[in-house]
Amino acid sequence: MKSIYLDYGATAPVRKEVQEIVMHCLQHEFANGGSLHDPGQAARDRIEWARSQVATSIGADAREIIFTSGGTEANNLAVLGAARKHRHRGNHIITSQVEHPAILECCRALEKEGFDITYLPVNRYGQVETEKVKEAITPNTILVSVMAANNEVGSLNPIATIGELLREKGILFHVDAIQWVGKLPLDLSLLSIDLLSIASHKIYGPKGVGALYIRKGVRIEPIMYGGGQERGLRPSTQNVPGIVGFGLAAELISQEVTTEAARLTQLRDTLWKRISSEIKDVCLNGHPTDRLPNNINVSFDRVEGQAVMLELNRHNIFISSGSACSAGKHAPSHVLIAMGHKAEDAHQSLRITLGRETTREDLDLLVGRLHEVITYMRSLI
Ligand SMILES: *Cc1c(COP(=O)(O)O)cnc(C)c1O
Repeated sequence: MKSIYLDYGATAPVRKEVQEIVMHCLQHEFANGGSLHDPGQAARDRIEWARSQVATSIGADAREIIFTSGGTEANNLAVLGAARKHRHRGNHIITSQVEHPAILECCRALEKEGFDITYLPVNRYGQVETEKVKEAITPNTILVSVMAANNEVGSLNPIATIGELLREKGILFHVDAIQWVGKLPLDLSLLSIDLLSIASHKIYGPKGVGALYIRKGVRIEPIMYGGGQERGLRPSTQNVPGIVGFGLAAELISQEVTTEAARLTQLRDTLWKRISSEIKDVCLNGHPTDRLPNNINVSFDRVEGQAVMLELNRHNIFISSGSACSAGKHAPSHVLIAMGHKAEDAHQSLRITLGRETTREDLDLLVGRLHEVITYMRSLI
C-alpha cells in the first residue's frame, strides 16, 4: 500500500542532495573543526560555508548565526540567554499562550529565577495582536518572544509590526520562526528582529541541528559552558555533518520557497474546500487565509482526533492529532484552549501538514479515507 506522509509540521524527510553531502562528511570529513591541522581546517571551512548558507537564506550575515543542537536549544539559548544578560535592566518578559513548549517551559523556569512573565492571550484564530503586546509593556520589560507561525494551527503573527514597536522602545525581540522558515520567505534585513530560531529537520535537513540568529550588537549569555566554539555561546565540538546538511537544506529551500508556497497554498485551499463540502460538521482551526501554506487544522464534531489519526495510520496515511509534542500526552492542546475551545473540543483536532512531496492524488486519497473513517465513527454513536 502506498504510504502518504502528511506530518511535515512534525518533521520533514531529508532531501536527497542533503543525504549525499551528510554521508560524504560522515565518511571523509571526521576531523574536529577546532583542530589546526589540515583536516581540522577543512572541517572548519565546511562549517563556515554552511554558516553563510544559513545566513544568506534568511537575509542575515554569517557572523549572526550560532549553530545549536536544534530548535529547542535555539529557543532556550535565546530566551534564557537574553533574560539573564539583561536582567539589570528589568525582570519583565512578554510571550504568548500559544508558544511551543520550548518557549513556555523556559519562561516557567525563569519565573523561578524571579522573572515576571506575561503570557499574552490570542484572538480566536490563535494570533497575537500587536496592540496586546503594546498594552503589556512596562518600564521593566526587557524581552518579548512571539512565534512567527504556530506549529499546531498554522496561524501567522504580525512579527513585522511587533518588531517595529519593540525596536522603538529598545526591547529585545525573539521570534521562534521554526515553522515559518522554508514555508514563507524571510528577509531579516527588512525586519526589526534581534533573535530568531530555526531547526534543520523542519526544512528537509538532518535532525539534531538548528541555529539561533543573533543580530549584530545584541548580547546574550551562554546556557552551557565549555570550549569556545560558536563564539563561546554554544560550546561543544560542532556536528559537522549535521551543520553541513543544514546549510545545504537552507540554501535549497530558500531558492524554491516562493514557488513552493504558492503550490502548497493552492493544495491547502483545495483540501479544505473538499473536506468542508464532503464531510459534515467540521470546522477549520486557525485563520482561514493568514496561515502557513502547508497547514490545515480541523475539528470534526463527535469524533476524537486521535482515533481518526490512528485509523488513518492503519491505512498508511500519516497525520497528527494536535502537534507531535503533545500528541503522546493526552492533555488537550494548550493552543486550542487559548483560542477559546472547550477541553472536549480540543480533543477533536487533527493537523494535516503538507510538503514538497505532497501531490493532489495524495490529498484525494486522504479525503476519501477521512470521509469513510468519520462516517463510520459517527455511525457508532
Ligand atoms: C519543531 C518546533 C520546535 C522544536 O524544534 P526541535 O528541533 O524539534 O527541538 C520549536 N518550535 C516550533 C514552532 C516548532 O515547530
